[in-house]
Amino acid sequence: MTERDAHPGLAHPEVAGWLLGSLDPDEAGRFREHLDSCAGCLAAAAELRPVARALGMTAPAVQPPSDLQARTLARVELAARTATARSIWLRWNVRTPSRGVKSP
Ligand SMILES: [Zn+2]
Repeated sequence: MTERDAHPGLAHPEVAGWLLGSLDPDEAGRFREHLDSCAGCLAAAAELRPVARALGMTAPAVQPPSDLQARTLARVELAARTATARSIWLRWNVRTPSRGVKSP
């Protein structure tokens, strides 16, 4: 038994996206064709289909705010810049002796 046999859902991760409807039309079409020839994905789809249906009933779909992506990317960029600035300051501070401390 291979790793793929033990976990058929891992062999082609598109299974979950296909079941949840999150693949783009081209990906969905290619995966639908793939399903005709892949017993592992067919089994994984059958196993995961009830879970995908249950997820669809747990909460209503919500449209994210139109500026969510821009705000998220701005925060990531700010965090990266802050981390870099902090890292530079810490390196400078460690290398620079404090006032009042005499060098040997
Ligand atoms: Zn497959």
